[in-house]
Amino acid sequence: MIKQPRDIDTNCADPISSTRPQHDSQNATRVQSPSNPETSKLGPLLKQHFGHNDFRPMQQQIIADVLCGRDVFVLMPTGGGKSLCYQLPSLVLPGVAVVVSPLIALMQDQVKALEANGIQATVLNSTVDYAEITQRESRAASGRYNLIYMAPERLMNPAGQRLLSRLKISHFAIDEAHCISEWGHDFRPEYRMLGQLRNRFADTPIIALTATATPRVADDIVKQLHLNRPGMYRGGFERKNLYYEVRRKERVFHQILRYLDDHAASAGIVYCLSRASTEQMAERLRAKNIDALPYHAGLPADERARNQHAFVYGKTRVITATIAFGMGIDKPDVRFVIHADLPRNLESYYQETGRAGRDGLRADCILFFSHGDKAKLERFIEEKENEHERKLAHVQLKQMIHYAYAIDCRSQGLLNYFGDEHDGDCGHCDNCLLPPQLNDATKDARKLLSAVARTGQRFGLNHVIDVLRGTQTDRIFRHNHQCLSVFGVGADQPKPYWRRLAETLIHDEQLALTRDDFRTAYLTGPSKPVLRGQVNVSLTVPRAAKRPRKQKPIATAVDDSRPIDQKLFGQLRSLRRTLADKQNIPPYVVFSDAALRHMAQRHPTTPQQFIQITGVGQHKLDRYGPIFMDAIAQHIANPATGP
Ligand code: ADP
Ligand code: ZN
Repeated sequence: MIKQPRDIDTNCADPISSTRPQHDSQNATRVQSPSNPETSKLGPLLKQHFGHNDFRPMQQQIIADVLCGRDVFVLMPTGGGKSLCYQLPSLVLPGVAVVVSPLIALMQDQVKALEANGIQATVLNSTVDYAEITQRESRAASGRYNLIYMAPERLMNPAGQRLLSRLKISHFAIDEAHCISEWGHDFRPEYRMLGQLRNRFADTPIIALTATATPRVADDIVKQLHLNRPGMYRGGFERKNLYYEVRRKERVFHQILRYLDDHAASAGIVYCLSRASTEQMAERLRAKNIDALPYHAGLPADERARNQHAFVYGKTRVITATIAFGMGIDKPDVRFVIHADLPRNLESYYQETGRAGRDGLRADCILFFSHGDKAKLERFIEEKENEHERKLAHVQLKQMIHYAYAIDCRSQGLLNYFGDEHDGDCGHCDNCLLPPQLNDATKDARKLLSAVARTGQRFGLNHVIDVLRGTQTDRIFRHNHQCLSVFGVGADQPKPYWRRLAETLIHDEQLALTRDDFRTAYLTGPSKPVLRGQVNVSLTVPRAAKRPRKQKPIATAVDDSRPIDQKLFGQLRSLRRTLADKQNIPPYVVFSDAALRHMAQRHPTTPQQFIQITGVGQHKLDRYGPIFMDAIAQHIANPATGP
């Protein structure tokens, strides 16, 4: 058991080795699907039922495989569009698709989204009462549904097995398939039983989907589920619509407030390290009239569920959370993920930021970083009893810090960690869009290291900087440091400058701090060449804290060629909100942000125009089209009025 400070939430340990690439499993091959007459129908079905105009990468191939009766393994990043890969075949193949998912709350939301598209689906789980279950089961047996969602334990128990024998099953979809593997980070014993499906259903295709399998886990999934020569699909990890930025952690609350002011229509997550800080953050935001609720493992279950619901249903704008939050968040329009504290490893950082922008629109991932966080996390790590875990945690933290300090492409750093090749210059990180400016700081570095040496390597950075700046403190006089030659040689620079320089030197191991509470600065081997002037030191100039109002665009999957009518966009959002509230569904189920943006660009007022909008299928056209077209027509007739 890992010893953790009580205020800190944990998730399962993620061994870093688990993220390294291996080769495809032996019995898995990747072949082109034979052409299938059904595949020509796919495009129209995609538009009619899901409202999408084009397939995302790999979707069409995967669907074609399933239609051929082939097992498939799909590894696609969050937001890649995995659900469609098993949902669309359920409209083509005779019989019902059985979808296994570990997250009960999520099943319900998925079913609502399907129903909104006029697709028949239902949930069989422990939240549904017996009479209702019986009714749904007999409807299922009569072929009423395209899809039924079940938790694995329900599917594999005797009642579930009896139900299966009454159904004609088109295919099985195993969502979050990594849960079957003990090598994965979220092993669930109840998933193991799914291995028996193949025995009973030799010819029914099984499609296994996950966003987080390492090659080893991928092999294990194929083996555990007894997939038969499956089509193997592995998408890259890059999320091109996510903007990655690291900021200095100074006046964090103020910076977050500014961000929220600048992005008044956005909802998102602020991750904090401790339970207490999530609550404080939420409280302080509320004091500034921003709807914010906390989420952490120490809250009562009903409060947690309520807060999560409020976020997904658009009733609160911000959720302040520990890492306990996130698994099972299907909300596609999370527009920002802010880390107020440093995450402990890159894997968590990738997972947590991955919850942003599932809808493919731009979303911001901002990490606040200070050296103090590093020290804090190091102290937590030192408390771990197991030496191996301690070492691993230190290595992981080092990678995280390396990322935070990077002056080159962040995507490259992040993706290399997952074994994805990336050439850099991603076009969606701060360092690519606003390259950092480097200044020569060799002279100042020598001054700083001399001050450490002259004071006997017995003081913390504060004191060393006081000496450099010639500050007259009691401590200085007590130690007679006002007599040192270095006293006051750095008065021309402010304190934060010296701190930044010290942190840079520490990061490059040209200076070090003891790990005890005193954080005493001392010289290292690499300090010497700096002191002798044999090595140059450069320092990044901090980007202006006040960001330019106009953000540089990043390339997303959406059409940015036409301007968005912001007033109309706002009106459509509130209309969506009203409709969603009335039906008790999340707003994104009515229309995605992408759809509303598109409407605010194109102003569709006829059904022919409206159906062209991304995310508008036949069912949504019938159901919501008239109301939205009305609002758009009114806006055109009288652009000045309205909310
Ligand atoms: P995943 O399960 O891989 O995280 P989802 O299946 O939840 O992803 O899909 C993420 C979002 O992408 C959803 O909002 C969905 O409507 C959208 N989406 C899926 N396929 C397409 C497509 N072909 N075109 C446009 N949007 C799509
Ligand atoms: Zn980049």
